[in-house]
Amino acid sequence: MEWENQQGKTDIKSLTLAQLQQKLADMGEPSFRAQQLYQWMHRKLARNYDDMGNLPRKLREDLRERYGYTSLRLIKVQESQIDGTRKFLFGLEDGNVVESVWMRYRHGNSVCISSQVGCRMGCSFCASTLGGLVRGLLPGEMLDQIYAISLLTGERVSNVVVMGTGEPLDNYDSLLRFLDMLTDEKGLHISARNVTVSTCGLVPQIRDLAREKLQITLALSLHAATDEKRRSLMPVANRYSIKELMEACGYYFEQTGRRITFEYSLVGGVNDSRQDALGLAALAVPLRCHVNLIPVNPIKERDYVQSEASRIQAFKNLLEKNGINVTIRREMGRDIDGACGQLRRSYMQEE
Ligand code: SAH
Repeated sequence: MEWENQQGKTDIKSLTLAQLQQKLADMGEPSFRAQQLYQWMHRKLARNYDDMGNLPRKLREDLRERYGYTSLRLIKVQESQIDGTRKFLFGLEDGNVVESVWMRYRHGNSVCISSQVGCRMGCSFCASTLGGLVRGLLPGEMLDQIYAISLLTGERVSNVVVMGTGEPLDNYDSLLRFLDMLTDEKGLHISARNVTVSTCGLVPQIRDLAREKLQITLALSLHAATDEKRRSLMPVANRYSIKELMEACGYYFEQTGRRITFEYSLVGGVNDSRQDALGLAALAVPLRCHVNLIPVNPIKERDYVQSEASRIQAFKNLLEKNGINVTIRREMGRDIDGACGQLRRSYMQEE
């Protein structure tokens, strides 16, 4: 499969090495050229064709004519004074903007990328979905968030989470190509085990992904343990029941051998009771899931509030009593529009 950019040209950064080899052979180029070009794009992270010193000028011009070259433009960067987390706002070729986050952890640097411009999933607590979906990102546009951040920070990225704006499984083919190229030994060669894809729970795509048998981590945004409560937070719960979701998760585990992570954003007075915790435990235990609790990050368009610290702790303790491995997401970058989609949204409102 090939992807066209908004100008109707094939995006060269979204092509696999095999595809590039075919294209360059068709142009009458010797076979090593494709390797060189691929290396320039995916290893040396060239920002444009002009950087590619060892490619003949004529070839660079032909390529420029035929193909789009995704190269995100930095619009804004915010750095947290608390923990050094940096949030980047990037401009795409067609004038849209996406945000990505860089976080430094003890075990290495992590980048959180967006998979779509906007989102159509409509989760009630999330800022990314407020303006709806504009379009899915090309594989090259997902890769380039990581490339641009590597260059801007000058540091190696070791972990990637697809947890920014958008529903990755709603941009499925593009996501798969992105994962393939991100983990390619001829590219950045990030280990699949260091990649997490987060989904609101699109059942057919979870099953498709399972059959790919990738060693990535799948995170499921659960947020409620009953269908009724889940529907009140996430419209996607009207399409798929928790029972169907749990079956898909079981299938994923069976196919890949990878345990699922449940993400659970705690919203004060909404889904943080003892009963909620027991319901969540009943779902997590049979699948041997890891649970990641996220204190909700309030957005100004909604009146959700965070659970009290004592309540979060009690929730966690109850899960742990049931033998579940639980983490509470550290709130990185609270001071820099940390929640999903807030930076992009505030930028668009200024414009
Ligand atoms: N669409 C995917 C990935 C993007 S959202 C998904 O739904 O998983 C990444 C995670 O952040 C999801 O678990 C999402 O529900 C959660 N999230 C979004 N907005 C939030 C907010 N304001 N506070 C806490 N968690 C939020």
